[in-house]
Amino acid sequence: MLRVGLAMLQGARHEHAEALRGAADELGLAVDIVECRRADHVSGDLDALVLPGGESTTMRIASRYESLLAALFGWMDAHPERPVLGTCAGAILLAAPGEDRSPYLAAGIARNAWGRQRESFEAVVEVELDTPASDFKQATPVGRDRFSHQPLEVASSGADLLDEGFPGVFIRAPRFEQGSVNCTAVARVGDEVVGVLDGNKLGVTFHPELTMDRRFHRWLLTQAAESKGVA
Ligand code: GLN
Repeated sequence: MLRVGLAMLQGARHEHAEALRGAADELGLAVDIVECRRADHVSGDLDALVLPGGESTTMRIASRYESLLAALFGWMDAHPERPVLGTCAGAILLAAPGEDRSPYLAAGIARNAWGRQRESFEAVVEVELDTPASDFKQATPVGRDRFSHQPLEVASSGADLLDEGFPGVFIRAPRFEQGSVNCTAVARVGDEVVGVLDGNKLGVTFHPELTMDRRFHRWLLTQAAESKGVA
């Protein structure tokens, strides 16, 4: 049983839980999703962590997040080999954790950097990430009725797009400063790097949890199983 911590920071959390369950099904792994709302939920027995998107400023300033953020960073420092997936604002937290913490991703990141007219868009992302393929074609659709808010409908979503493009959903997305990527680029839109891997920390500027292509979540679970020695 893998225990995956899901940081219940402001933002898209329920979709991540759903994506993790879907990915676990596809891999035939048992997963326990631990909703981390308070610092004491971030325990040492978590095998992996997801930092969802949302509004990074809110995440940083809301007093209720202060100790949660510190606990999440503390967990990462204590278990550097365990995988972390940060999406959008989650990637901002990894690349620019703030205060005097050193970044977990060796890549500069700029918030809301696509300009207003392109605040939100979809684009095909080329992914180069070592993740097991899935022949599981009937991924559970994101059920509207299961969420208190309406998830974004993604026209291009479906089962894995045959290892071709990944349906990237960019929502007021940050941008990696292209000259400052000093770790492995694993996702690109054209020449632009939109996903980076540093050790076992993966940061993407889009929202894989809003699609039914679970490969990033499969990556997380596979890495977690490996670092736990159950793979
Ligand atoms: N614009 C947000 C920020 O800077 C990130 C947006 C998102 O996570 N979808 O925090």
